[in-house]
Amino acid sequence: MSASLPAMAAAPAVSVPEDPADPLAALLARIRACRVCVEQPRRAPLPHEPRPVLRVGSGTGGGARILLASQAPGTKVHLSGLPFTDASGDRLRAWLGVDAPTFYDATRIAIAPMGFCFPGQDAKGGDLPPRPECAATWHDQLFAALPAFDLVLVIGAAAQNYHLRRLGLERFLRLNLTERMLRWREIFDARQGPRLLPLPHPSWRNTGWLKRHPWFESELLPVLRAEVAAALR
Ligand code: SF4
Repeated sequence: MSASLPAMAAAPAVSVPEDPADPLAALLARIRACRVCVEQPRRAPLPHEPRPVLRVGSGTGGGARILLASQAPGTKVHLSGLPFTDASGDRLRAWLGVDAPTFYDATRIAIAPMGFCFPGQDAKGGDLPPRPECAATWHDQLFAALPAFDLVLVIGAAAQNYHLRRLGLERFLRLNLTERMLRWREIFDARQGPRLLPLPHPSWRNTGWLKRHPWFESELLPVLRAEVAAALR
């Protein structure tokens, strides 16, 4: 885990009063109290207590110009309550060229996975995909309440499928993840704003993919770092 990770307050308990003056804060409170995957699951219920993990601002609309759209928490993130408090996070912060305080400043970078809670693991110990209940319940409301962002960095197939559709880039949905990555510049240039940049997951499981595609480091990462720096300014 990276040094200097900020502490995160525990998620609130179930009963949450709504604040009509701050609809985003009220929505975030409802998300943090969510038990849909336990009480109304579409398939086997979540095998543990929900712990939604997302980082978006509230009150003034957040202020973040960058959205990091990811997949779902893993075991370490489920325990920490902070996104990317693992080796994937270290690699992701290196890709972005940001330190941990900047990464976890929700007024500068919003982080919203497709499944807010850790979905559990399969029989081989691999993380399950994001719970489909989450996007069906929350994501349209959340992104309607958040600002448009300048830069939408989208990690993994599930998040890409959602945000390509949300941003009117359906023509790229038929491509698989590697095909999308190979056409990253075309996808990035397809909109003036918010601009979408697809990314592979920074997990160690993708180290082989990264080695087979050296252009990711030599061509995409310099653009990514420059765009992140510009959005943070
Ligand atoms: S994954 Fe999403 S829908 Fe399921 S319990 Fe967590 S917040 Fe609710």
